[in-house]
Amino acid sequence: MKILFISSEVYPFAKTGGLADVVGTLPEALAKRGHRCSIILPFYKCVREGGFSPELFKKDLLIEVGRRKETFDLYSLRRGNVDVYFVEKDEYYKRDHLYGTPQGDYADNALRFGFFAKAVIAAIPRIGQQDILHCNDWQSALIPFYIRFFHKAAPEFNSLKTLFTIHNMAYQGLFGREVMASLNIPKKLFTPEVLEFYGRVNFMKSGIIYSDAVSTVSEGYGREILTQEFGCGLDGLLRTREKDIYGIVNGVDYSIWNPATDKFIAARYSEKALGGKRECKKDVLKEFGIKYNPDADRPLVGMITRLAEQKGIDLVAEGMDEMLKLGIDFVLLGFGDEKYNNIFRGLAERYKGRMGARIAFNNALAHKIEAGSDMFLIPSRYEPCGLNQMYSLKYATVPVVRAVGGLDDTVEDFDPSVKKGNGFKFKDATADALLAAVKRAVGIYKDKEQWNTLLHNGLSCDYSWAFSAEKYEDLYNKLLSRQACGLGI
Ligand code: ADP
Repeated sequence: MKILFISSEVYPFAKTGGLADVVGTLPEALAKRGHRCSIILPFYKCVREGGFSPELFKKDLLIEVGRRKETFDLYSLRRGNVDVYFVEKDEYYKRDHLYGTPQGDYADNALRFGFFAKAVIAAIPRIGQQDILHCNDWQSALIPFYIRFFHKAAPEFNSLKTLFTIHNMAYQGLFGREVMASLNIPKKLFTPEVLEFYGRVNFMKSGIIYSDAVSTVSEGYGREILTQEFGCGLDGLLRTREKDIYGIVNGVDYSIWNPATDKFIAARYSEKALGGKRECKKDVLKEFGIKYNPDADRPLVGMITRLAEQKGIDLVAEGMDEMLKLGIDFVLLGFGDEKYNNIFRGLAERYKGRMGARIAFNNALAHKIEAGSDMFLIPSRYEPCGLNQMYSLKYATVPVVRAVGGLDDTVEDFDPSVKKGNGFKFKDATADALLAAVKRAVGIYKDKEQWNTLLHNGLSCDYSWAFSAEKYEDLYNKLLSRQACGLGI
């Protein structure tokens, strides 16, 4: 199959979260299974600054933006077995951030990603006929709609199928009605049945309605989004497409996240020889100005996260006093809402020497924390998949997670009586429930035999992409063998 992945972020070129990791790895896993995979993303400033030098592939491709004609250039490079294309339009993408600053989103995001969607469609005849367009999140959600309304008759588009993957229901791409004209969205679609959402245009709705199938990044989240609690206002629409909704859990790229080969960490270690992990712990403690004390043997709890309420960081802030009383040290790497950036700066100041916070996005430090921590905390209010709990299992770092979405699917609560399970789970989104789970983990940490069993249970889990890639392959095949396309609204 020829499969084109469309994403607003792709590791290692541009990343703010898990979407980048997924689109950075899944195409290669599918290419290894014999498919022709390509990826397309905007040519951001960070691509150039990251030392990547794509070459000009096609110049001056033309698209309509409202009544205006605009052009863009298409660049490309080869990474492994995958062709990566970049939409170059400096006016929109040559900025310091992908979506906005900590103070807020860029005001022209509708146009930036509307333009991206149109550019992808204009690029397809140049890149070559595709069988599957795999769109991801609201930034590429308009593509199935544009194809349906404007391109279905063209030979490049009449037989291809579209899959829309939701990585997070909460980010839907909501904009004022005035953006419709410049995005060439017909006025008649501004109704609650189609693209209107409480007086605004909703990009994600177009992806849900006009794609051949919708998927999300774990089975658990796939069920949750059909409910009012997790559907973010779109659960009703999703239920109308229930038979076309699939849940496929993300995998891990073990060529990047593997303590036996990881170049970012202080010492390499593996399942058979965990000794190096102690060096990694010392290294992280030093990085955060926390004293290493082998006699006290305090477990180190780590966290790497976007600082957003979704991630339950308010619970962490609330429970910090009590958590430190459990005899742990704590480090956090995070960046996001200014309110939480400041709260964690404040906590780090208050608990200097026991707790550290780095308010930044830092990939190398993320690897160090995965390796150096004994436990990894993910208290999310909701979690479509979550990647760090799977990275943690590989790094012999025990995940302590809230039992939601992909976290619930991938972490099994440890039961010392039968020595089963790979981490600790809690149900309620409260600081007390979180503390009770950390307390259980600390209790087991003190029993070295049990702790060792727990670590090895985690190390034996295999979340490599090969399994998930096979599931995507089955889904693409299913779509290609089908006639119908979308809901037909
Ligand atoms: P989400 O996509 O909702 O942010 P995921 O758990 O799916 O959450 O993926 C987050 C990814 O981003 C992980 O690879 C994680 O290590 C990384 N990450 C998050 N915050 C930071 C940060 N401040 N610095 C470095 N990496 C980060």
